[in-house]
Amino acid sequence: MEKHLNILQNYFGYPSFRPGQAEVIDNIDQGKNTLAVMPTGGGKSLCYQVPGLAMNGTAIIISPLISLMKDQVDGLHGLGVTATYINSSISAAEQHQRLRDMQQNRYQFIYVAPERFESGSFIHALKQTNISLIAFDEAHCISQWGHDFRPSYRSIVPILKEIGGDPVIMALTATATPEVIEDIQTLLHIAPANTVHTGFERKNLSFFIEKGVNKTDYILSYLKKHQGEVGIIYAATRKQVEYVYDFLKEKGYAVSKYHGGLSEQERQAAQTAFIFDQSEIMVATTAFGMGIDKSNVRFIIHYAIPMNMESYYQEAGRAGRDGEPSNCVLLFSPQDIHTQKFLIEKSELDEEGMQREYQKLNKMVNYCRTQSCLNSYILNYFQFGSVAPSVSCGRCSNCLKQGEIVDITEEAQMILSCVKRMRERFGVVMTAKVLKGSKDKKLIQFGLTGLTTYGILAKYTEKEIIERIHFLIAEQYLSAEEGQFPVLQLNQKSMDILTGKQNVTMFIQDVPTAEKADYNADLFETLRQLRRTMSEQLELPPYVLFSDMTLKEMARYLPTNKEDFLRLKGVGQKKYELYGEAFLKAIADWKEKNPDFKAPTAIHFQSPKTRHVKEEEEDNRPSYQKSYELLQRGKSIREIAAIRDLKETTIESHLFQASQKGFNLNWELFFNNQEEEEILSTHEALDATGLKELKEALPEDFTYRKIKAVLVKNEKFGVKEG
Ligand code: ADP
Ligand code: MG
Ligand code: ZN
Repeated sequence: MEKHLNILQNYFGYPSFRPGQAEVIDNIDQGKNTLAVMPTGGGKSLCYQVPGLAMNGTAIIISPLISLMKDQVDGLHGLGVTATYINSSISAAEQHQRLRDMQQNRYQFIYVAPERFESGSFIHALKQTNISLIAFDEAHCISQWGHDFRPSYRSIVPILKEIGGDPVIMALTATATPEVIEDIQTLLHIAPANTVHTGFERKNLSFFIEKGVNKTDYILSYLKKHQGEVGIIYAATRKQVEYVYDFLKEKGYAVSKYHGGLSEQERQAAQTAFIFDQSEIMVATTAFGMGIDKSNVRFIIHYAIPMNMESYYQEAGRAGRDGEPSNCVLLFSPQDIHTQKFLIEKSELDEEGMQREYQKLNKMVNYCRTQSCLNSYILNYFQFGSVAPSVSCGRCSNCLKQGEIVDITEEAQMILSCVKRMRERFGVVMTAKVLKGSKDKKLIQFGLTGLTTYGILAKYTEKEIIERIHFLIAEQYLSAEEGQFPVLQLNQKSMDILTGKQNVTMFIQDVPTAEKADYNADLFETLRQLRRTMSEQLELPPYVLFSDMTLKEMARYLPTNKEDFLRLKGVGQKKYELYGEAFLKAIADWKEKNPDFKAPTAIHFQSPKTRHVKEEEEDNRPSYQKSYELLQRGKSIREIAAIRDLKETTIESHLFQASQKGFNLNWELFFNNQEEEEILSTHEALDATGLKELKEALPEDFTYRKIKAVLVKNEKFGVKEG
């Protein structure tokens, strides 16, 4: 519907609806009660915010978490929309004021917790209010099968009857088990036909499992490769949180911590610092994150295995709500399973409950051990046995297999025989020290320096040896006894290795690198600073002003005027009016200091006003531009060729043409500095001969594409229009 699209563009600045959104909104528009089942980050809020803005009256949003309400209300204020929340966090006087304003129909949105429906004065006010729609956010809370059943969600239904007026009802959830869906449908009178289910894959999330790594080292190298990115590190215990927090703090990172052992005040402060981008890294137990809608979380690292897939997916799912590529890394070490088992044993569950938890933990461990696509594993798990296509996502650690496979059979044999010689009485660290030939006094004390394996792996660092021992444990080539200081023991598989029946290869995984920046990183940083300063002045979270995605758009296209600014994704009329000028000025200042930077025009999104005209023109866009746009959307040359049904060489020359027309190409996709130098110097030496001679004079792995790209970039080669 046109009016909804206009709202989407004018208020939220998004060019089009995400899957399912338009359908849900149309249903509401036609007065049909509707259930939306969409993954976290799928865009459920817009499903009620857009119709709420389109309709007269007040939309009542029922939400289980106080912090979430505040977040959403902040977001709406950021768009210049009247909204408020009524809950126990505000004084009685303030509550009454808001109720009075509500009866005057002064709000377009009111957020309340389910318990509010137990209050007489609220019900009374509700009866006087002109209600546009009622939305049950996190609607699984209404079902006892859901993981956070809230009885008060249920008691709302009879009250709604009493209020009358028959407002349209919508329910939104990311939980898709059949029991929960059925419950919601029955309780809220939603016809199965009016249930919109979009599937669960989060296409912008990449999952990684890292086994046998030194965890703190890994985190450090991850952070080095992802400077300036915001992320959460989840640990299993308070002690772990403290440990990782101290470690990062000491290294100079802007880090916060959050766990149940801290005071309410400390936790609140940590959360605020994180939401306002004052700290970039949050180290926390699972206690953190409920109701945090921070959209620019770029990575989630699990320091230890979580208790089950449900918690894992919920925690990992906090990455990338803005739709930008984000990483979810799980650092797996088998010892951590004991921690989880211990937590289950310590819990107050009955025998049956404990068994269920053990089974769930098992599935979690299988996730860490599977060789196939992690994304498929997750989808299969949550579809509860119903057949999900077994596909490869192409972006998880199992699909990518980036790194190298090394044969470590000999090292493994040395490790195992060392364990044997130490009479299977010591743990990982002592074993590593012996293999390293450490001068540690304890080794002398225990008489271990005389062993034939003493110092046999001296060429490795102690850390590298520990890594390999952990790997052997993860692959069950070596057993680690349970307990606080697990003792290493040999098993049948160890024997197979010692006798040479079995080889051992180890895959050494690369740390995932940051996405290649096709925007100006320096300007992005400048804009981020501006956003932070403004957000502090306005007392709104930074991402409410503009998301990271939108800042990147600015740093990519460097708009100079209102019209160009409105073309960016995430900028609507409203946001332009509220914040546009400040950002335009910052961009202009930056441009003045960097006059040589050539920015492409934002062509993938037409501003709302020009949309219609442009749509007709759409097909007249030159072919090279269409290819270029696909590249900008992250497609590879091969994919573009497939999509457009053209040859790769054609696409290639399209992109070169685009570059000649002044569109920015990310040349790193084609060659690196060294290759560029080599091609240029060979070109010089050969004195401007044909491509073929140049190719022959260069090493074999210099493809025609590489060579051409270098020549085009350096304006030594013209591409004909086609
Ligand atoms: P959910 O409640 O389903 O977990 P949200 O409603 O919080 O997800 O939305 C997640 C993010 O997606 C938000 O940053 C939101 O602005 C963004 N978003 C929603 N709809 C669209 C859209 N049509 N185009 C682009 N971004 C969108
Ligand atoms: Mg939501
Ligand atoms: Zn995969």
